Amino acid sequence: MDEFTLIQYIQDKQKLHQINLNNKNIPITIGDDAAAVMPPDNHEIIITSDTLISGVHFFKDSNPKDIGHKVLAVNLSDLAAMGATPAWFTLNLTLPEINKAWVTKFCDGLFSLAKKNNITLVGGDTTKSLENSISITITAIGYAPKNKAITRSKANPGDGIYLSGEVGLAGYLIEQIYNNKNLDNKLKQEYIKLINNPMPQNQLGINLRDIASSCIDISDGLCADLYHILNLSNVSANLYMDKFKIPKMLNKLTQDQALEHILYGGDDYQLCFTAPKNVSQKLVNNKTINNQIFKIGEVIASKSEKNSELFLIKNKNKIKLKNIGYQHFSNN
Ligand code: ADP
Ligand code: MG
Repeated sequence: MDEFTLIQYIQDKQKLHQINLNNKNIPITIGDDAAAVMPPDNHEIIITSDTLISGVHFFKDSNPKDIGHKVLAVNLSDLAAMGATPAWFTLNLTLPEINKAWVTKFCDGLFSLAKKNNITLVGGDTTKSLENSISITITAIGYAPKNKAITRSKANPGDGIYLSGEVGLAGYLIEQIYNNKNLDNKLKQEYIKLINNPMPQNQLGINLRDIASSCIDISDGLCADLYHILNLSNVSANLYMDKFKIPKMLNKLTQDQALEHILYGGDDYQLCFTAPKNVSQKLVNNKTINNQIFKIGEVIASKSEKNSELFLIKNKNKIKLKNIGYQHFSNN
């Protein structure tokens, strides 16, 4: 298969998934030098881009279907955190060779998730890698009513802090794969599948537009990502140990071990958001928004300017939490 056959093949796969291609919001699509898209009146365009590299962001023996899912999921998750409605995306593929079976499965995972979230592929680029590595970049584009996108910078003292679901599992599974040399191969494949299949919270993100004061998706770890909100909003926070939900698979660990994964494990792609006190209880009770939401803490004022601190209240002790998480190019 050559480059242009591949591009046609990808387009055919998109059609097969019955993704809306004749949308009047896409006057120019794949096949031209660039695409043209039209957001609804009085809406802002929201753009995000994420790259996945084999051996870094996904295990080499991952099922291509799951890779297709994950590369779109991590981008959708960024749109979710902004409260944007997903609309269009581009796909940059850098592959050592064109393997039809691989591409077929990849497209299946990619377009299944695209269909669920009503997002259409409108362009991309296809290149050959020099080494035996795969690099996939998606740029996802969405929109939100003017001034309604949710940012990281508007959390206020008194706001509640919420999670859209349990966190910590993905980090635990990744650690098991790396550190547990006796891990059964079947179990390893199950773990990889779980890690590769996060569910982005796009409907929740849209519902939070008029509710949340700030929002972020948890890709690097709860502490690291929440610190982004605290630093940009110039506030601090208390988290309450007894409010955390511990994922079932972590029940066999000690409380402290489970806590490490919940606080510092990444790759869960749940949303962490803040909301003013007056909406907070309504939010938790409103089953149509998301019945998984739970409160984990509160935003407080910082003791001094530009000094955001995150505390964990555990058995009446107040522990300052470290601002660490996954960082590329860091040596530790
Ligand atoms: P150019 O040389 O002008 O950059 P290309 O030959 O790279 O154009 O691409 C031709 C068309 O196919 C463009 O519309 C481009 O957006 C689209 N395209 C290329 N690669 C992909 C891909 N992996 N997925 C979707 N569309 C693609
Ligand atoms: Mg090109």
